[in-house]
Amino acid sequence: EDKPAQEAKQKEEIKEESEEEEEEQTFEQLGLDPRLIRALNKKEISVTKPTPIQRVAIPLILEGKDVVARAKTGSGKTLAYLLPLLQKLFASSGSSRKLAPSAFILVPSGELCQQVHKEVSSLIDSCKVQLKAVQLTTKMGVSDLRTALAGPPDVIVTTPACVAKCLSAGALQSSSINDSLEILVLDEADLLLSFGYEDDLKALTAFVPRRCQCLLMSATSSADVDKLKKLILHNPYILTLPEVEG
Ligand code: ADP
Ligand code: MG
Repeated sequence: EDKPAQEAKQKEEIKEESEEEEEEQTFEQLGLDPRLIRALNKKEISVTKPTPIQRVAIPLILEGKDVVARAKTGSGKTLAYLLPLLQKLFASSGSSRKLAPSAFILVPSGELCQQVHKEVSSLIDSCKVQLKAVQLTTKMGVSDLRTALAGPPDVIVTTPACVAKCLSAGALQSSSINDSLEILVLDEADLLLSFGYEDDLKALTAFVPRRCQCLLMSATSSADVDKLKKLILHNPYILTLPEVEG
């Protein structure tokens, strides 16, 4: 065999090896806090190995990058953003009181709101950190919304319509959001627009400070997602796994 062919062969092998390594990558190697890793092991169905979208998204989110993650339903997008989001908030937990939450997670339905809130709350409980997550839905009256927002909590899981309601009722102040918001997640971003939430989203994104990290999760690569990208993301990393729908 001539030399270039040998070199090419070697390179290929190295590539295969590193791909294998990636397959075996652990949450620890992604830079995740040991408290979170322990919490994952304690889940009813123990989570020990990151999924492909988690492998690529978690390190980028921990670095503070804006990320658009497109991967099919069931690929583990919730933990892909929740784990690094919580890790970032660990650093600020228990420190000086803020006037508004540090993180907003926007989802398209009350049902999903409940699911995500349950997941984030159980992680917080397992980690024994001083963080509080609440869910807000449009079914709640203004006084319940005010009570839930008193404190304020560190993480809010809600729908764009409910954010708009809180803003117009004065339960949330746009200036406090502008001061405090560190991370904004749009989960099921494709549905967020197709449900007609665009105006409500704009009511919030108008106050999202430039330094806020924005994460957009989606199962499709539709034009709607491109619209959201223009609305809130600054030069994001776009991760598209091959099995993406649509
Ligand atoms: P998506 O939002 O991409 O549709 P979910 O975040 O709802 O997917 O995850 C689907 C299921 O996979 C959930 O039950 C979740 O607990 C589980 N899951 C997520 N990450 C892992 C993992 N690394 N290992 C095993 N199961 C996981
Ligand atoms: Mg999801």
